[in-house]
Amino acid sequence: MSVLIKNGRIITADSDQTADIFISGETVQAIGKNLNVQSDKEIDATGLLIFPGGIDPHVHLDMPFMGTFSSDSYETGTRAALYGGTTMVLDFILQKQGNSLQDALQEWKSRSDNNCVGDYSFHMAVTDFNEETKKEIKHFIEEEGITSFKTFMAYKGALMIDDRQMIGLMEEVKKHGGLINVHATNGDMIDYLIAKHKEEGKLSPLYHYLSQPEITEAEASERFIDMASYTGCPGYIVHLTCEGALNAVRNATKRNQKIFVETCIQYLILDASLYERDFEGAKWVMSPPLREKKDQQTLWAGINQGLVQVVATDHCPFMWEQKLLGKNDFSKIPNGHPAIENRMELLFSEGVEKNKITLNKFVEVTSTNAAKIFGMFPKKGTIAVGSDADIVLFNPNEKHVLSASTHHMNVDYSGYEGWEVTGKVKTVLLRGKIAIDNNECKVEKGFGKFVKRNKVASIV
Ligand SMILES: [Zn+2]
Repeated sequence: MSVLIKNGRIITADSDQTADIFISGETVQAIGKNLNVQSDKEIDATGLLIFPGGIDPHVHLDMPFMGTFSSDSYETGTRAALYGGTTMVLDFILQKQGNSLQDALQEWKSRSDNNCVGDYSFHMAVTDFNEETKKEIKHFIEEEGITSFKTFMAYKGALMIDDRQMIGLMEEVKKHGGLINVHATNGDMIDYLIAKHKEEGKLSPLYHYLSQPEITEAEASERFIDMASYTGCPGYIVHLTCEGALNAVRNATKRNQKIFVETCIQYLILDASLYERDFEGAKWVMSPPLREKKDQQTLWAGINQGLVQVVATDHCPFMWEQKLLGKNDFSKIPNGHPAIENRMELLFSEGVEKNKITLNKFVEVTSTNAAKIFGMFPKKGTIAVGSDADIVLFNPNEKHVLSASTHHMNVDYSGYEGWEVTGKVKTVLLRGKIAIDNNECKVEKGFGKFVKRNKVASIV
């Protein structure tokens, strides 16, 4: 099967040209003006923007949590991602404390294998670093193609590792060329504040927010960065939300440290005033919580300064009924919100359309940088000869309204209900195959492939 895309405006992280793209099999074969080739199918992209397929490096599909699971399966989640122009996701495997990393991989594969519509990979969350798990790191990097290791500085007793384990893990991961991801926050301080608020009878979603003040994230980010500097291990801070934490990163760059930063779409465009809506605020209960307007400004600036390299989602949807588990106690509200389908369109509409970021920057933070940092470039993350033909055709002028009644995520509310966006994903190709066209999905579960990743952790 070959496809010729004619006359689109092709945007990559560092180029902008109107040309044709010829695809044969799974990869791009040629790019140029007025390509004279025979193809099985021709698409006229006049007036459309063409982006590399989006990569969302932070999602949680079918994730076990509080005796239940996040409501998008690998099938519904990766399909919804495709509708929104995201052709690949990176999900998190969570090691169970006391068990091996390999046990966790097998458990996660039992849910994901043959169920993905779009391409995917995993980060491995190390929640129990000891002499046994230490031996597994090299195997994961060199054999499994899982080169990034997530750590939690919060959720004591379930996911958190202490600083002693963190240093040990960093040394081992550095030795084999991997990368450490971190949920950087002061877990003990948060646990104290949650207990205090509950004792005082303060139980509404607002107290979820007030139990995780900015300082918890700023302090832990700085501590993580200092440990990464000491060990020389590259680090990637997931879902950074606030000015204090970003300032820690800004300081780290003065010593030329390899620290990468991800924020999520919601932290750029939503703020903590949503927690004042009584229990409705549960829709946005996530960790870290939404912050203030001044933090949004800092994050947009951070993107343009190159301090924030990735805009992800931390997609972790729960049905409203699941959110109601915390009706009388904010600490029991499942954390997370749905965004996997909305990320690209929201960032285009709020970022490019409102002149906060350029088109090239849009591509960088939605696709290219994630591919580079997580060792998939140039197979993924760009439009170039030899790269996978993961391609999004986008109408920059079409307006539409986001709603749970029309989205494809398996969740019965939208965090963006009624939000008008400018710009719409029209057609999506995944490895040369038309996956989305005219608001219809053309590929089945099982089409999505697991992508083995390399060691590279760099944006150059
Ligand atoms: Zn997450």
